Amino acid sequence: MKTYRIAAIPGDGIGQEVVPAGQEVLEALAAADGGFELSFTHFGWGGDWYRAHGEMMPADGLDALRGMDAILFGSAGDARIPDHVTLWGLRLKICQGFDQYANVRPTRILPGIDGPLKRCRPEDLDWVIVRENSEGEYAGVGGRVHQGHPIEAATDVSMMTRVGVERILRYAFRLAQSRPRRQLTVVTKSNAQRHAMVMWDECASAIAAEFPDVRWDKELVDAMTARMVNRPASIDTVVATNLHADILSDLAAALAGSLGIAPTGNIDPERRYPSMFEPIHGSAFDIMGQGLANPVGTFWSCVMLLEHLGETSAAQRLMQAIESVTATPELHTRDLGGTARTADVTRAVCRQLAAQT
Ligand code: ATP
Ligand code: MG
Repeated sequence: MKTYRIAAIPGDGIGQEVVPAGQEVLEALAAADGGFELSFTHFGWGGDWYRAHGEMMPADGLDALRGMDAILFGSAGDARIPDHVTLWGLRLKICQGFDQYANVRPTRILPGIDGPLKRCRPEDLDWVIVRENSEGEYAGVGGRVHQGHPIEAATDVSMMTRVGVERILRYAFRLAQSRPRRQLTVVTKSNAQRHAMVMWDECASAIAAEFPDVRWDKELVDAMTARMVNRPASIDTVVATNLHADILSDLAAALAGSLGIAPTGNIDPERRYPSMFEPIHGSAFDIMGQGLANPVGTFWSCVMLLEHLGETSAAQRLMQAIESVTATPELHTRDLGGTARTADVTRAVCRQLAAQT
């Protein structure tokens, strides 16, 4: 029987609650399915590790992860450490170290969950946002000069390479092609940013020719936010830069009902390295340690993890179990207006998985 090696990195805040919940659900699924086994290795990296060792993860941490089949990640963020240190020291280190250049963010209104869009039927909102995850606005290029002086200046250079743009566009076109509507919206800001964004537009036109069966259009990022609210049914697959898609996918998650249910995968499409799956929310210090975190975003990330491993029927079973739980108002956590706790939702999903067989 196939045994998959999974790295569990809970990180900080509610990551320490939702990742163990995700592991519990995956283990229940493997036990119920019987077709594969999972071997988890736990890595205690994050804010506590930083205070003990002066870094968010060990220097040879990537080597420890390299042989894994996938990574389940929680969150990086600690109130006592600057956000850019926690982010660059752990999450981005893994994303960049393993060239997980495609960040994939599905959004749907799950059964039983009310989004804020009153005129939106659930079937109107079924999107996947593909975020460029290796360069662009978050390339880390820039600097500060004359710190503390009146002439202080700072830059963050948004660096986009043709190779980087082409590979994310090709990934997005391929993903759009695999979905029933075969439709892609390429988001840029090429009216105002006249170098890299114009290159995006040119690359999109060229790559579109490779996918004649995909309907595609272009949208400016500001117009895209309005379109997501006003015409959600006009959208299917979306591709955008690192920063633009970061913002659009938080909006998407909120429109689908809660940040707490949204999943994401940091994918190396070439499968040279392990890919990493995580809820899109952060460490949420306001509710940490209280058992209030909604684990659904992590569970849905586990669905993506299973799909990535090729365990599609197990992935479908887990998604069904999640949907049957979201459809039950008594199992809604506080972010969804309910009173259920992380452990209640986790137990209910496990019970549902056991009942499927
Ligand atoms: P970070 O700095 O690590 O991004 P954050 O403090 O900005 O973390 P987020 O986790 O991004 O917080 O989310 C913002 C708010 O949304 C949280 O303060 C929390 O109240 C709520 N929230 C986020 N995720 C969840 C969840 N899984 N369950 C319940 N509430 C959540
Ligand atoms: Mg945040």
